[in-house]
Amino acid sequence: MGFRALLTDRDADGKITSTVADIDEARLPEGNVTVDIDWAGLNYKDGLCLTGGGGLVRNYPHVAGIDFAGTVRQSADERYAVGQAVVLTGWRVGEAQWGGYAERARVNADWLVPLPEGLSTRDAMIVGTAGVTAMLSINRLEAAGLTPDAGEVLVTGAAGGVGSIATALLAKLGYSVAALSGRPQHADALKALGAASIVDRNEFLEAPDKPLESARWAAAIDSVGGKVLGKLLKQVKYGGAVASLGNAGGIGLDTNVLPFILRGVTLIGIDSVMQPYATRIAAWKRIAETFDISAYGDLVREIGLEELPDAAEQILAGQIKGRLLVKPR
Ligand code: NDP
Repeated sequence: MGFRALLTDRDADGKITSTVADIDEARLPEGNVTVDIDWAGLNYKDGLCLTGGGGLVRNYPHVAGIDFAGTVRQSADERYAVGQAVVLTGWRVGEAQWGGYAERARVNADWLVPLPEGLSTRDAMIVGTAGVTAMLSINRLEAAGLTPDAGEVLVTGAAGGVGSIATALLAKLGYSVAALSGRPQHADALKALGAASIVDRNEFLEAPDKPLESARWAAAIDSVGGKVLGKLLKQVKYGGAVASLGNAGGIGLDTNVLPFILRGVTLIGIDSVMQPYATRIAAWKRIAETFDISAYGDLVREIGLEELPDAAEQILAGQIKGRLLVKPR
């Protein structure tokens, strides 16, 4: 039986295009669980996969979509029963393996997570890879000693997917959040999520650069990299830590060693893709306990498969607010 998918292909000149197509189930990749997809997400990496950026997709035609939530349709794995709600993030699904921009996916059971109690498949995709990455970042910062009484936590790329969920999760956990954003028009939405203050990205970057600057932040969660990460490291308080998870502003890191050797600052790398099962289960459990989905409602927009190519361009241009959900059927 066939299903609808957004098929991304590369022509002889290397041009990448995506069109909705009917696909025979026999073309699904190998795997022991087949999932009927209710919702997929749009992430920065999906923007790259849909436009051929970053060399992430090697084999065409391809079905992109790095995260999805849905219902088990067939299972040859005893952990998953037909009808069970599941979510998938990471494992290079949507990059090296067909992903979530389709009505159906077939994957390795080890990559799935049973949906925690209290979350619908739509809720799970509001959270998506962005939310898992935000939660993993907070968990690592706390393991490094961060507590709510340590002072303000800076979140960069705050109006984006990871940044906005990190803002909401931190605020709910009792942290005082400073949300750094290049889009002042989203300041009210960020305050509604719990941000105590807004830091204008341009003002932040234009301030005179010194080897070590006034210590302002107890910790930071950084989606941006580049100049933003380089500068914020110089403003972290003694003993503080920074979770570096993204490169929306560049892969460079222009800083110096003074924050590390004079203030004992720790730089923590966050990867959500290859996290072991137990870490994912723990992250999803804490998300279900912490994240107020209803408070996030204004930052969610729904689209169909046909609208994805345009949305991919928008997310790469930093124009998407919050989370964009994809409904494949
Ligand atoms: P979004 O596009 O939703 O958010 C990125 C945000 O970064 C934008 O909203 C914008 O925030 C800011 N931004 C964009 N371009 C620039 C720029 N040129 N200079 C400075 N700031 C910029 O993406 P996601 O939240 O999905 O992902 C964020 C980053 O994290 C990406 O680099 C992504 O690849 C990475 N990532 C990494 C993961 C991991 O496992 N390590 C998992 C998920 C994502 P604002 O408008 O508020 O300034």
